[in-house]
Amino acid sequence: MGGQGSGYFNHAGRPGLLGGSASGGGGSGGTSSTRERAEKHREAREALSEKTTKAVKEFAEKYRDKTKEWMQIIDPKTGKVDYEEEGSEDEVGDPEVLEGKTEGKIQIHNHPVDTTGDNPDYPDNANKPPSAQDLGKFFDDKPKEFLVVSKDYTFSLKPPPGGFTEKNKAKAEALFKSMLVKNGAWRYPTHEDWQALAAKTGIRYTRTKQ
Ligand SMILES: [Zn+2]
Repeated sequence: MGGQGSGYFNHAGRPGLLGGSASGGGGSGGTSSTRERAEKHREAREALSEKTTKAVKEFAEKYRDKTKEWMQIIDPKTGKVDYEEEGSEDEVGDPEVLEGKTEGKIQIHNHPVDTTGDNPDYPDNANKPPSAQDLGKFFDDKPKEFLVVSKDYTFSLKPPPGGFTEKNKAKAEALFKSMLVKNGAWRYPTHEDWQALAAKTGIRYTRTKQ
């Protein structure tokens, strides 16, 4: 993965965000059919209602081509939009305003096509996956599902099947930092970075073409 020091880290680059200390412990390698079956049942239980799926689609259609970030908090049962916020070109989701609004909800925002220049670490500016800061938001805001919409894709983050502990959050943060920080600067995470993080931490990550 290419250069560093591009100065382009927009909202992925808040210093100190992922400053947690490294936790030991290897990954939980290997799968079993029992675990896979349990996972299938869980997915079925967690599947979004028809109305919520529709609300997510509507968000994608409305905001995928915008030049600013927007965020909605959607009720996972009813599909009702509880809250909407207009952000800037590279940030949305005021933590003070979101306080108490996000736990167990669907949290969705868009990543606009970036027009500020080339990022050598992430050439496909039209389809930026969740940022490193989004990982922090995903941890802090505790949504049922954290969704990011880009021009062509919808990215989804869900907690590991057993839920989060402080230990596995710290592990994920330390891992991401080891992958993404070079010479003290963050580079923007790619789809492959998220896949690697998910494989090692149990965070459920998907990228779906719209
Ligand atoms: Zn984001």
